[in-house]
Amino acid sequence: MTIPVPVNEPLLDGNERDYLNQCIDTGWISSEGPFVQQLETQFAARVGRRYGVAVCNGSAALEVAVAALGIGPGDDVILPTFTIISCAAAIVRAGATPVVVDSDPTTWNMEVRQVEARVTPRTKAIMAVHIYGLPVDMDPLLEIAHRHGLAIIEDAAEMHGQTYKGRPCGSFGEISTFSFYPNKHLTTGEGGMLVTDDEHLVERCRSLRNLCFQPRKRFVHEELGWNFRMSNVQAALGVAQLERLDEFVARKRRMGQRYTSLLADMDGLQLPLPRTAEAENIYWVYGVVLKPEVPFDAEEAMGRLRQHQIGTRPFFWPMHEQPVLHRMGLLAGEQCPVAEQLARRGFYIPGGLALTDAQMDRVVQVMHEVLG
Ligand SMILES: *Cc1c(COP(=O)(O)O)cnc(C)c1O
Repeated sequence: MTIPVPVNEPLLDGNERDYLNQCIDTGWISSEGPFVQQLETQFAARVGRRYGVAVCNGSAALEVAVAALGIGPGDDVILPTFTIISCAAAIVRAGATPVVVDSDPTTWNMEVRQVEARVTPRTKAIMAVHIYGLPVDMDPLLEIAHRHGLAIIEDAAEMHGQTYKGRPCGSFGEISTFSFYPNKHLTTGEGGMLVTDDEHLVERCRSLRNLCFQPRKRFVHEELGWNFRMSNVQAALGVAQLERLDEFVARKRRMGQRYTSLLADMDGLQLPLPRTAEAENIYWVYGVVLKPEVPFDAEEAMGRLRQHQIGTRPFFWPMHEQPVLHRMGLLAGEQCPVAEQLARRGFYIPGGLALTDAQMDRVVQVMHEVLG
């Protein structure tokens, strides 16, 4: 009998049920409930920031970040091409122009050495996106941003509990953002957070999240915002999850290390880098890349695993190869060979927090059978 192994299953066996019951018992289910502020305060403290602004998802957090920084038509924002559409969407919806750089072939993060050549007088910000478990090399990026007067938007959606040179990811941007989707290290079902140290920016973020209602004349608007609020029910989950973040990170690290030792004999696979000089991998996902000599691509590999009921997901598809952006006249003709290969030859295997050793063994066994 084959046992299906889903690509992700969260762990919700701490205080989640108790805090959800408190929402129901007290009747506090909207964004006005007390867990929202509690999560904002505790999460911001956890990443060493003064302020947190909870929102309904990580994509919304990016939209608010771009808007709060006043980025708009005529502005360029530099970002990695190898990322989720949310990053480019936030830039494009603001009327600004995305400018991409390729990936580092070993960490899969943005190639920071390509950034400076893309800076022009139009450049307003760099969106630094930490990919899959290892942080972007922030020091050179901060140096370039400082020298050219650019803002950093740090997308730390995959980086709860990660550090760069000992400093928390999420502490590097003028505004940094997180997602609490169920496959992240900390989940609220759907949810996200902006963090910042700037009291002006935090006010902008709070207002943009809440339809730009005005304190005195509530229904008179000087600006258009969104209803991107997080509910007390979501925040209740988040508070319970945050209590266990260290445990979750340790668990993911152990899972990653275990996969790496069990897959070490598969010569055709490039495995995630266990560490860089700046950080140890936290394995948001466990990604593998088929080496050039393997005669099939990621789609074929995922199909073979699916036949044995092993869940997988493809890697990101680069922003410069997105039909929707090409139709808008954006990024067509760009070439980023590393990201193009990652997209075609990379995929990730089951790695949720609830994954058992027996399930991992099954995944590894099937991988040897069908990809070996
Ligand atoms: C998950 C993710 C997002 C989007 O978060 P949602 O909560 O799913 O909207 C944004 N950026 C990165 C890098 C992500 O991994």
